[in-house]
Amino acid sequence: MSESVRAVLILGGTGEAFNLAGRIDALPGWRPVTSMAGRTRSPRIPAGEVVFGGFGGVEGLAEFLKEREVSAVIDATHPFAEQITRNAAEGCSEAGIPLLRLERPPWSVKAGWRCFPDAGAAARFFRGREERVLITSGRKELGVFAGSGASFFLVRTVDPIQDGPPLENCELLAARGPFTVAGEKKILCDYGITWLVTKNSGGEAGLSKLIAAEEAGVGVCVINRPALPDCERVETALEAARWLERL
Ligand code: NAP
Repeated sequence: MSESVRAVLILGGTGEAFNLAGRIDALPGWRPVTSMAGRTRSPRIPAGEVVFGGFGGVEGLAEFLKEREVSAVIDATHPFAEQITRNAAEGCSEAGIPLLRLERPPWSVKAGWRCFPDAGAAARFFRGREERVLITSGRKELGVFAGSGASFFLVRTVDPIQDGPPLENCELLAARGPFTVAGEKKILCDYGITWLVTKNSGGEAGLSKLIAAEEAGVGVCVINRPALPDCERVETALEAARWLERL
């Protein structure tokens, strides 16, 4: 390999990161190294080098950047992956390495949506109510919905939850998108769902469930994005590749 080829670390785990690796792999002068947390079974493997399993906090990340002579970092993680984004901001600032955040825009809030600052606040909305709720906000914070009284929860995750039901009155559904509007409507209808809970992840892939909910008259409960450290941001893989070309 030519010595003039520089390494860019892509913090991945999203479709944007996957697409970006493909773009950068075709760019002269750069080679992508994508890093994934390693939590999802059978993830899509992007072009270029791929590493799994985390770095071991900010220090581990800083060490990785130094050892691997990384020249730039593109944080293309999910908008709710708060910790790794904070680590990237701190690690890159300490190491003096340019950092770009690739972040898809959020969905614009529709009239009638109930928006909450975090999962805990969304869960409190269901206390004392008797609803049938489809939760699509991931497994990490499911615990906050415990003790919600008379509501039923249908919990949909990408990989099956192996360690028993996370909530008292729930059913588990493992399914990997993309989902169609018709398919989403069928689930809402089959389970008699009255509310959908989702993070404001943004992007095309998650839109089907929102359209289906609207068409089926199901309430939409949205968890707003967390505040993340300031850094230069773009919204598409194309813009991110252009940023890299300018370095
Ligand atoms: P997180 O809370 O921000 O990160 C927790 C720890 O996981 C980090 O400190 C880091 O471990 C490791 N990690 C996370 N992303 C990593 C990456 N791309 N490469 C290497 N290590 C990573 O993350 P999370 O919310 O659990 O999300 C995990 C992954 O799933 C992310 O890559 C994200 O893009 C993807 N994802 C998340 C969501 C979501 O809703 N949160 C949705 C879809 C996809 P060390 O400290 O050991 O480095």
